[in-house]
Amino acid sequence: MSHHYHPDPGKEVRLKDYITRFEGDFDKDEAAAEEAELEERLANLQERLYAESKQSLLVVLQAMDAGGKDGTIKHVFDAVNPQGVRITSFKVPTAEELVHDFLWRIHQHTPPKGYIGIFNRSHYEDVLVVRVNDLVSKSVWKARYDHINNFERLLVDSGTRILKFFLHISKDEQKERFQDRLDRPDKRWKFSMGDLPVREKWDDYMEAYEDVLTRCNTEYAPWYIIPADRKWYRNYIVTKVIVETLEAMNPQFPPAEEGLDKVVIPD
Ligand code: AMP
Ligand code: MG
Repeated sequence: MSHHYHPDPGKEVRLKDYITRFEGDFDKDEAAAEEAELEERLANLQERLYAESKQSLLVVLQAMDAGGKDGTIKHVFDAVNPQGVRITSFKVPTAEELVHDFLWRIHQHTPPKGYIGIFNRSHYEDVLVVRVNDLVSKSVWKARYDHINNFERLLVDSGTRILKFFLHISKDEQKERFQDRLDRPDKRWKFSMGDLPVREKWDDYMEAYEDVLTRCNTEYAPWYIIPADRKWYRNYIVTKVIVETLEAMNPQFPPAEEGLDKVVIPD
């Protein structure tokens, strides 16, 4: 079921062909039951990954504002040992970051062996917000798709698995979530005036996302387009893809040191 949300590499993606709201024959209670079991597997796999210390997993999350990046991190990873997880949120680049190539700040945060790295926004901002707002010239951002593919190839060749999730919400759903943020005192801090001009450029963003999902959806670093209007379904699918991927990575506890069975702990 989850593979279904990964377009075939090379295929041109049109976001209109991808649902934002899951309406199938599977409900929230069924998802919750399966998710509890998935989370147990995830916790176990993460422990093995950490103990083995030979490979790592990078999870990239991209979405429009209120698309659920924070909520996904909170729900999917709540059962794992925080010691083995590194989360990085990429903001507007600093002056120092801007005087380097666009991957410089990213590379410092890729997960070391044994770790799961989570990117809340990522190097993809450099062909999304940067493109939509003409922050660099077209010839500069156009060259970045190849740079990104090569960069991700380097990471994969160095022992990192990469999973990329686009949390796909409808424009109506974003409106509801923004309204909720405005109405609830405990959520107001999440709303920024700057979110509105971004919403106005929705169609430009969708076009930029379509290029990302077409040009950087490789066999070695796949994109998943997750129907994200329903949070429980989003969390369930993202958890499932991560667990299946870690299972395929098959991390093993390292062999114990020789002679451990003869050890007597002194008084
Ligand atoms: P938030 O995720 O709500 O904390 O916002 C972070 C902001 O940083 C968003 O508006 C992003 O579009 C922006 N941002 C992240 N990366 C870049 C980048 N490379 N260039 C310009 N803006 C960026
Ligand atoms: Mg935001």
